[in-house]
Amino acid sequence: MSADLAHQAPAAQDATLKKLAKLGIRRRFDLVLHLPLRYEDETHLYPIADAPYGQHVLVEGEVTSCEVQFRPRRQLVARLRDGSASLVLRFIHFYPSQQKQLAVGHRVRALGEIRRGYFGDEMVHPKLRDVHEGDALAERLTPVYPTVNGLTQPVLRRMIAAELKTLPLDDTLPEAIRARYGLLPFADAVRLLHAPPPELGASALADPALPAWQRLKFDELLAQQLSMRLAYRARRKGSAPAIVGDGALRARLIAQLPFALTGAQQRVLAEIGADLARPHPMNRLLQGDVGSGKTVVAAMAALAAIEAGYQVALMAPTEILAEQHYLKLAAWLAPLGVEVAWLSGSLKKKAREAMAASIASGEARLAVGTHALFQDDVAFERLGLVIVDEQHRFGVGQRLALQGKGGSPHQLMMSATPIPRTLAMSYYADLDVSVIDELPPGRTPIVTRLVSAERRGEVVGFVNKVCGEGRQAYWVCPLIEESETLTLQTAVDTHQELGAALPARRVALVHGRMKAAEKAEVMAAFAAGSIDVLVATTVIEVGVDVPNASLMVIEHAERMGLAQLHQLRGRVGRGAAKSSCVLLFEQPLSDLAKARLRVIYENTDGFEIARQDLLIRGPGEFLGARQSGVPMLRFADLEADSALLEEARTLAPELLAKLPEVAHAHLARWLAGREHFLKA
Ligand code: ADP
Ligand code: MG
Repeated sequence: MSADLAHQAPAAQDATLKKLAKLGIRRRFDLVLHLPLRYEDETHLYPIADAPYGQHVLVEGEVTSCEVQFRPRRQLVARLRDGSASLVLRFIHFYPSQQKQLAVGHRVRALGEIRRGYFGDEMVHPKLRDVHEGDALAERLTPVYPTVNGLTQPVLRRMIAAELKTLPLDDTLPEAIRARYGLLPFADAVRLLHAPPPELGASALADPALPAWQRLKFDELLAQQLSMRLAYRARRKGSAPAIVGDGALRARLIAQLPFALTGAQQRVLAEIGADLARPHPMNRLLQGDVGSGKTVVAAMAALAAIEAGYQVALMAPTEILAEQHYLKLAAWLAPLGVEVAWLSGSLKKKAREAMAASIASGEARLAVGTHALFQDDVAFERLGLVIVDEQHRFGVGQRLALQGKGGSPHQLMMSATPIPRTLAMSYYADLDVSVIDELPPGRTPIVTRLVSAERRGEVVGFVNKVCGEGRQAYWVCPLIEESETLTLQTAVDTHQELGAALPARRVALVHGRMKAAEKAEVMAAFAAGSIDVLVATTVIEVGVDVPNASLMVIEHAERMGLAQLHQLRGRVGRGAAKSSCVLLFEQPLSDLAKARLRVIYENTDGFEIARQDLLIRGPGEFLGARQSGVPMLRFADLEADSALLEEARTLAPELLAKLPEVAHAHLARWLAGREHFLKA
């Protein structure tokens, strides 16, 4: 028997197959896994007089009148009578077939919700069924499936019912394992969900704790865990240079730093060092909240590779950030005699060629840049380690392209946007993770204030005061999604306005449209302290490090996402001075905006913020922006089903070790042909 739909159903034409594919249904078994969204109850017939309001009911009667009315608009209005009472059936959109069905004298069943209308009780757009003498009522609840235009419920129902009858619904999990986790047999679970007995009722079926749903969620989570484990194993089997440096350069950098590494920094460096020393590619995510000191960790990791004779590439998502890394790393590494190259899209052709040449010859040991680093004309002499800063800002494709540059180098990704625990256990489970869970000493907590935009004048006064104390301030203007020009305009206006309001202060502007060299010049002046107030579009969102800046004002904070606000706020509080962040918002606030602002106001811990973000937005969006092609879980909910996720996570390695054939059968059922999505 073929598993492929195209071979199975000669009647299913191409068009139907295409529609099914849109629903993710490619194999016959996918139909079994296509579960209802909700159910309709056609097992019980109500007398019209007794039918309750506010729920779907099925009634049956004889059509006593039917006409097309033209006022207030064209509509089909019929009256249905049974022994108890009568009811208006109203159709704003209708087909000739419905008119025929509703011919006076016909018996029909109508399924819908009854409400009180001007002319008495009525059903709007009920579902109609002809009745013939002796037509039995349904014995099971009628499933309503997710579908696409042109694929009707009856067609989908028939196809699914056919597969449920013919396909063997054998269990992928042995009985002992089902017993351990209290799982229903697979066949029972899917049969129940596709055709539940009426006594179960709509609310029981909508309850995620229903054992049948639990079984499907468990299976889905288990498949995800298994595939992540396999991806992890495959990587561990691949080969990469075993990098063991002598520590000489690292010791010199440490000696030269004005601070000592924190315990957390030392710990993550040991973890990275151990990975680099293995002959398999590292794929490690370094998480550390904003300001936790990831840059120096990157520098130390780079030096480990450079000591061993390898080159290192460090990629950042924006030109400003890349340039800042370049300046910092060059300042640290040049005294050690390590050549650092700089590569960005805005370099002139000559300069770019020179940089590319020094990377190709191996003269440059570290190359810092934007995604320009992995354009075709850049070849490394001996690339051993790739470091990606703010990894969540890059697409999967961009990271893979850089990886492809030199055999399979080790990879270190850094992120200040923490991945919530449940996501780390699921979608990111194929990565190794190191966490810097300690901020450098001497930081003072940032005070966050929510201020209505009406009180902008006071905020300007506050900026003035802070600058009077020798501190600096950021003033961030919102990105206006629909219009770059408008974004720019607000920043330009704000710049002028602040300049006029604060004549004693040096106010400068930086925005995305400026030439890279101009931006760099402004940033350098701000870092050097010769600018007091920096008006910026969100170009400064990631990574900018000016410890003397102690005030961050964010306009239209209500329009920004939580991760973005947290990142922006993290630009201050980097020195010992008391820092604050003022979130200006425009009234009235939507509920969503209120919820977001409350989270950022109440929390400073990036992990907690990310967790709340996940709760507000759901994992689809959390991942969506950064992780294209990852199949979303259809049944399980990471937060709500975290207990199941834990169980699946412990079972997956056990199955792979002890019952590999069970593991593979399970994967085949759930992921056939889709495994590639999981390679991130
Ligand atoms: P992020 O993790 O956000 O990238 P950075 O690497 O930019 O943070 O570091 C933030 C600031 O903290 C920088 O000014 C950096 O020099 C400083 N820093 C890093 N590590 C330490 C440390 N162990 N002690 C004191 N300051 C440190
Ligand atoms: Mg950083």
